Amino acid sequence: MKLTASAQFVLDKLNQSNYKAYIVGGTVRDFLLNKHNTDIDVTTNALPDQVKDVFKGYKIFDTGIKHGTVSLLINGELIEITTFRKDEKYLDNRHPSIVQFVSTLKKDLLRRDFTINAMAYNIRIYDYYGGREDLANKIIRAVGDANERFREDALRILRALRFSSVLGFTIEEKTKQAMFGNKSLLKNISHERIREEFDKILLGQNAEEVLLNYEKIFEEIIPEFALMYGFEQHNEHHIYDVYTHCVKAVASSKKDLIIRLALMFHDIGKPNVFSLDEQGRGHFYNHAVESKKIARDILNRLKYDNNTKKQVLTLIEHHDVVLNAEEKCVKRWLNRLGEDLFDKLIEVQRGDNFAQHPKHRDRQIKLDQIVTLKNKIIEEKNCFSLKQLAINGRDLIALGMKGRAVGQALNKILNLVLNGEIENDKTKIIEYIKSNKKCYH
Ligand code: ATP
Ligand code: MG
Repeated sequence: MKLTASAQFVLDKLNQSNYKAYIVGGTVRDFLLNKHNTDIDVTTNALPDQVKDVFKGYKIFDTGIKHGTVSLLINGELIEITTFRKDEKYLDNRHPSIVQFVSTLKKDLLRRDFTINAMAYNIRIYDYYGGREDLANKIIRAVGDANERFREDALRILRALRFSSVLGFTIEEKTKQAMFGNKSLLKNISHERIREEFDKILLGQNAEEVLLNYEKIFEEIIPEFALMYGFEQHNEHHIYDVYTHCVKAVASSKKDLIIRLALMFHDIGKPNVFSLDEQGRGHFYNHAVESKKIARDILNRLKYDNNTKKQVLTLIEHHDVVLNAEEKCVKRWLNRLGEDLFDKLIEVQRGDNFAQHPKHRDRQIKLDQIVTLKNKIIEEKNCFSLKQLAINGRDLIALGMKGRAVGQALNKILNLVLNGEIENDKTKIIEYIKSNKKCYH
């Protein structure tokens, strides 16, 4: 195993002071998987104050001193150094009531969640719980008694799903049963910790399987999902129930959190607005607005940041607008959303379409054409927003306009430019205004 220079330096420095020190946990797991991991964790028998003595003069911070963790910044790398510990009694299923420092590596590894995360390295690998074998067989298995482990910290239930999604691993049977058996304990876990894991699950390579096979667990963290489970759509666009459709849309889309969150919730309002017509066809009038409303509650509860919320909710609201491969239409939506969100809307529509009846797949070609058109508009620096208009408010004031009339006139002119009715040219626009004075004062 080849360590980074900083990681090797930290081990050497602690060893030279006669302390034991190992790279541990996710760092070892990712090394063995040949995956890049910038997050370096070290475990040592030195107590936090002793670690601070060893690294006197270096950039060292008390990040979690009561849990025995200090962080060291070396060559731009952040290395977390934690004293061997054992967690005692989890009264609330999430925080150990006492952290005891222990003397052996083996005990430290025993408190970790899964065998693949319970290995250490210094010169050789220390693997007391079968982590290497599970890694080779792509298995997620709790260290020791699975029920106990999830009772101690229910977040581990979501961490298991996250590793399964990200690494494409299978969850071992007893571990799986214990996850279902203890799922109600997730109510004790903070929304922030839940969100972090949920995001990683959504972005994993195996997201589809995890989201479909662990519905009952997801219902604990997002009860609104229950509405969608098994809800048949009764129309020719669809071959899946609402939940499966959303999951398939997520899995077929780009690995981008905003896009995937939008797809996960884009149809969540459908069951609430469902109606059947006389021919037995299902309709979901206004479902985008209803989905947005429900998604807003979920995103607020899980404490997503404002920027994420705003983007996701806008995408949900517009997920089913009709986009045509026409310059006018593309410019209008570029103006409304900006380029970045417009690109995401295209990806949302792609994902949505991939998860519908395959006979509608030709919509993808339309979306390709829209992207080509958009690229052309951007490349040619065509005007699609007020910012790009060849005149601005000051020009209009110079023409004698005042107050609200200025803003209204700018918007009217932008509309004319978007429709191709006048060219985006300062002289021509001014001429136009002068000859249509009545409309502009
Ligand atoms: P990543 O860094 O990719 O999120 P990780 O497994 O490294 O994954 P960290 O949160 O960095 O996760 O934790 C480092 C190590 O600490 C883990 O590999 C595991 O050994 C241990 N660990 C983390 N969280 C828990 C937990 N909730 N219960 C038990 N052990 C944990
Ligand atoms: Mg880590």
